[in-house]
Amino acid sequence: MNISASELSQMDRRSLLHPLTSIADHLRDGPAIYSHAEGVRLYDGQGGEWLDMGAGLWCVNVGYGRAALADAASDAMKRLSFQHLFGSAGSESSIRLADRLLNLFREKAAAPQMARVFFGTSGSDANDTAVKLVRYYNNLRGLPTKKKIISRIGSYHGVTCASGSLTGIVSYHKAFDLPLEGVLHTSCPHHFAFAQPGESEAAFTQRMVADLEALIVREGAHSIAAFIAEPVMGTGGVVLPPAGYFEQVQAVLDRHDILLIVDEVITGFGRTGHWFGTGAYGLRPDIVSLAKGLTSAYFPLSASLVSQRIWSVLETTSAEVGTFMHGFTYSGHPVGCAVALANLDILEQESLVENAARMGDYLIQALRQRIGDDPYVGDIRGVGLMVGVEFVAERGARRMFEANQAPHRVVARHAKSAGVLTRALPFGHVNSFSPPLTVTTDDIDRAADAYARALKAAHPELADLAAR
Ligand code: PLP
Repeated sequence: MNISASELSQMDRRSLLHPLTSIADHLRDGPAIYSHAEGVRLYDGQGGEWLDMGAGLWCVNVGYGRAALADAASDAMKRLSFQHLFGSAGSESSIRLADRLLNLFREKAAAPQMARVFFGTSGSDANDTAVKLVRYYNNLRGLPTKKKIISRIGSYHGVTCASGSLTGIVSYHKAFDLPLEGVLHTSCPHHFAFAQPGESEAAFTQRMVADLEALIVREGAHSIAAFIAEPVMGTGGVVLPPAGYFEQVQAVLDRHDILLIVDEVITGFGRTGHWFGTGAYGLRPDIVSLAKGLTSAYFPLSASLVSQRIWSVLETTSAEVGTFMHGFTYSGHPVGCAVALANLDILEQESLVENAARMGDYLIQALRQRIGDDPYVGDIRGVGLMVGVEFVAERGARRMFEANQAPHRVVARHAKSAGVLTRALPFGHVNSFSPPLTVTTDDIDRAADAYARALKAAHPELADLAAR
């Protein structure tokens, strides 16, 4: 039975509770319904066509419409549509994928210490698993008071009770009674937004690291179990670590026997022009969270990689502690793992990580050439295909827009009308660009031209906001 676009829209308003959506806006404006996609292009079936410069939610790394991934899923469903991993059960694709991920971390991220892989289905549950593993590890080590986890203001780690608590953006906590006890947030290392006047990047880094160490000392290192960080903050505004940051942070963590959880949910699988942020920034993680690009979002799948240091404690205490009582019905789903293996084949065969590095440089240049001098553009930054444009109310005076204003939403709205999807991020005033890693110079030129036109069209509204 066919259904018209307007009937579908009405049905949506009557039936769906949309995630991360303003209910009031949705009931007023209705949904934006897409029908199909190919490469970097999204369509609505009504004549609308967009360049998806967000790759969905930073996740469709190999681009839309890949028959090889559909075939991998179809073959896997026909052969073994489901197999759990509980009680030592297994399936070939989950075993192969675990082995391949550890090899990738050894070879492409200089992280040979990663020793085992646990599978889930989302970035949030991977970070929940990390929280539970940290508690488990310290309980088994006989350190039951060492439980708190330090995250950072502006970070995004998901929305479940534990991962939502790790997230350092207050709008995700409001009215949900989060964060839970035992999660602390330290300073946001965003030099452009938070440096004091005249503060160099090196001095800023030192101040951020000193803030972290002061928090550890204040709480007592005996109570702090782990520090969690995205190599490059995504949702928090495409924030690159300031020079020397992770090197100095890791020295502090080592001094206080604190684990490092690296959230690679966005940065994993080529997004930064490197296979992993871990390798790009010389990180030495104890736990790594992966999702999104693991399957290019063709199937919900996440992975938590565990270091030898943690694994050794689990292994040696197992007989005494009993069964590891953590796991999901869909942990290591054979269809998801088969899709992930086929997705990794594509990333390797088409050299998409290398393409992301090249296209990322091209994208930053394309944006700087067209809008670098715009009076409302304060900063254009990024690494690989993780690029952000941050808006300011008065460029010369470095005056920011007010926190409750949303200039980036205005620009993203105009960009959508011009045929380009960018994300208006929920922390700071940033539009992000994170297209599929298959994006070409021609796609980028088209997107940058349209975005520049959209920004011009938004000027009267931005001027209005800036004058308030
Ligand atoms: N961690 C990071 C860095 C993310 O960007 C996200 C999602 O955007 C998550 C965790 C949560 O992933 P999910 O939405 O799959 O739960």
